[in-house]
Amino acid sequence: MEQEPRLKIAVQKSGRLTENSLHLLETCGLTYSRGRDQLICFGENMPVDVLLVRDDDIPQLLAEGVCDLGIVGLNVHLEKSDPEAGVRKALDMDFGRCRLSIAVPRGEPWNGPASLSGRRIATTYPNILGRWLDEQGIEASVVTLSGAVEIAPRLGRADVICDLVSTGSTLAANDLEETMVVLESQAALLAAPQAHSAWAQRMISRIEGVLRVRGSKYIMLHAPRAALEEIRDLLPGSEAPTLMPLEGLEDKVAVHAVCSETVFWETLESLKGAGATSILVLPVEKMLA
Ligand code: ATP
Ligand code: ZN
Repeated sequence: MEQEPRLKIAVQKSGRLTENSLHLLETCGLTYSRGRDQLICFGENMPVDVLLVRDDDIPQLLAEGVCDLGIVGLNVHLEKSDPEAGVRKALDMDFGRCRLSIAVPRGEPWNGPASLSGRRIATTYPNILGRWLDEQGIEASVVTLSGAVEIAPRLGRADVICDLVSTGSTLAANDLEETMVVLESQAALLAAPQAHSAWAQRMISRIEGVLRVRGSKYIMLHAPRAALEEIRDLLPGSEAPTLMPLEGLEDKVAVHAVCSETVFWETLESLKGAGATSILVLPVEKMLA
């Protein structure tokens, strides 16, 4: 009997995205054992294997059909994915947040993108930067480096830089000031053009479910019928709540709702103020839309 091919998911081997990516797959129910070479995690309970590779290689592995799904920063996808190859972003993952920004030596005057005209900009993201400069109508010279971009101005290799920033401490340590964001980035789930198998779809919807459930709460309360509309409007990020009659109480109903946003004490106090009683807030463990 022909076996269904195993789904292959590419994850960064060792870096900022590794822990969150593997943890997310585990939360989706995947258990695995790590191969002796530490490059493949063999799924034990699903036909799914995880390949551990450099993040920069993931777009090409997907384009070549070696892997079906992959997790990389949006910055890497936009820099490395060949638009012709059909690798698509399936989901934003809500971790690995950072921004690709222009930074100039501290104290240098800045008058918007026009200040970049005719200057040398060091970056490891020549494609994203080049497209952005075109959009801005700026002519500048892009100096492509493979790393240590932040020291390029001090070494005289460039006038300004375009690099990834999260806290800004690396910039500060190198006497640079962030002046403009070129791209807001976070980790993204990428899908290869051929990723149509049942398991690919299943993993995408499980990951989507895990992400949606984070921070979601299940709220139960009793509400006077007269205040239903007001109470419904107070429930943060909930779609149609479920209403149920309460035995022996004509003027009250039970309201159950999944709230996709944080439920603060203030919200509960407002619900109480609107007439809600017996308010319970529960965590949600799994969700499948
Ligand atoms: P690899 O060895 O896999 O090529 P790397 O050095 O390119 O690793 P990391 O520094 O681990 O990559 O960053 C991986 C991703 O994490 C980045 O592409 C980016 O999307 C995200 N990220 C979040 N914060 C930052 C930050 N402050 N600096 C760099 N990347 C960040
Ligand atoms: Zn990399």
